Amino acid sequence: MSNMKRIAIVGAGLGGLAAGSLLQKAGFNVQVYEQSPAFSRLGAGIHMGPNVLKVFRRMGIEQQLEDLASHPDFWFSRDGETGEYLSRIPLGEFARKEYGAAYVTVHRGDLQAMQMTSLEPGSVHFGKCLSSVEDSGNDVVLRFQDGSEERADIVIGADGINSKLREHLLGVEAPTYSGWVAHRALIRGEQLRKYNLDFEDCVKWWSEDRHLMVYYTTKSRDEYYYVSGVPHPAWDFKGSFVDSSQQEMLETFGHYHPVVQALIECSENVTKWPLLNRQPLPVWSEGRIVLLGDACHPMKPHMAQGAAMAIEDAAMLARCLTETGLEDYSTAFRLYEVNRKERASRVQSVSNANTFLRTQEDPAWVYGYDVFAAPLKSEGA
Ligand code: FAD
Repeated sequence: MSNMKRIAIVGAGLGGLAAGSLLQKAGFNVQVYEQSPAFSRLGAGIHMGPNVLKVFRRMGIEQQLEDLASHPDFWFSRDGETGEYLSRIPLGEFARKEYGAAYVTVHRGDLQAMQMTSLEPGSVHFGKCLSSVEDSGNDVVLRFQDGSEERADIVIGADGINSKLREHLLGVEAPTYSGWVAHRALIRGEQLRKYNLDFEDCVKWWSEDRHLMVYYTTKSRDEYYYVSGVPHPAWDFKGSFVDSSQQEMLETFGHYHPVVQALIECSENVTKWPLLNRQPLPVWSEGRIVLLGDACHPMKPHMAQGAAMAIEDAAMLARCLTETGLEDYSTAFRLYEVNRKERASRVQSVSNANTFLRTQEDPAWVYGYDVFAAPLKSEGA
């Protein structure tokens, strides 16, 4: 094992863990380095579509996820004020049949914990904040804030929107604030029982310049979650999020449907997050270093596909490295970029525009995609 070539992944987010798991399963020697001291169950939900469940199948966690997650039969879009249905996108059994896997919504902390179980024990190292990196041509040296050092043959930068590895490749550049924020809150399912209202499994409430996406994060429906998208002139707060309040939600969504008013009434802890962005990167790799996920193509989250793109990236990168072998990593990196750029950029642009599923449309191009079955385009194709 010690003579095997090494792959280092920086960042144990949803993309980094998927890459770690799939590359280990393909027989590579992979270690993952994560800055956080440990994972916490941060208060947020996440959608995982059939395009991702097909990747989880390979990671061996599809069934586990299905057992825990909520399975909406539809994605409804509704007018925030009148409640009129703008679209009814069939999921549930339709998704299984048409797209080849389930569509689920889940707590992202639960999902991350599940992903961890699909990696070799001891291969994820916490408390390892990358401070600098040096590509010597023969290998890469990673230096961490705790003073430790690791060497690897190739490095995958899965370190999110403020990626240190992106910075190494392309220079220091802060992400752009999109002019929008997201309010997030988790609501205990039992709080909703007092209302004579229908709390649908997965619904996006829209009005001209804002929206509220709402869904359950568990199969037992004991946790309901909302995330907004709201214009907000400047992000002049410190940190990645700040506390918000029921009052702010009322000021922002007070004119919305009674179902939304009930949710605001039940909101105990609301947080507010800036939505950040970057222009598409000119390169995704250089030398022995390659980027994936938000390090590479962050987007506003309105299509619920940001993590999905990170996970698809991970799967395509694993597929290309398996195809070429680690010795020929530079061909693998080029193949990976050729086979990911168009799709990731399309999703990035639709997500930023916030138009997806607002009206009745066919989402097969997103959900029907199978990263393992898609014909591999050759370099420069
Ligand atoms: P991240 O999840 O950001 O992970 C990066 C990891 O790298 C982190 O663990 C971080 O601690 C670590 N790291 C960073 N720097 C260092 C360093 N120097 N050294 C070591 N480790 C480091 N996507 C969906 O698919 N579905 C959704 O429903 C959805 N909803 C969203 C709602 C909101 C409000 C937001 C903001 C995003 C949403 N997204 C959603 C998008 C999704 O969260 C991101 O696209 C996704 O998390 C990107 O995954 P990643 O692995 O690339 O990066």
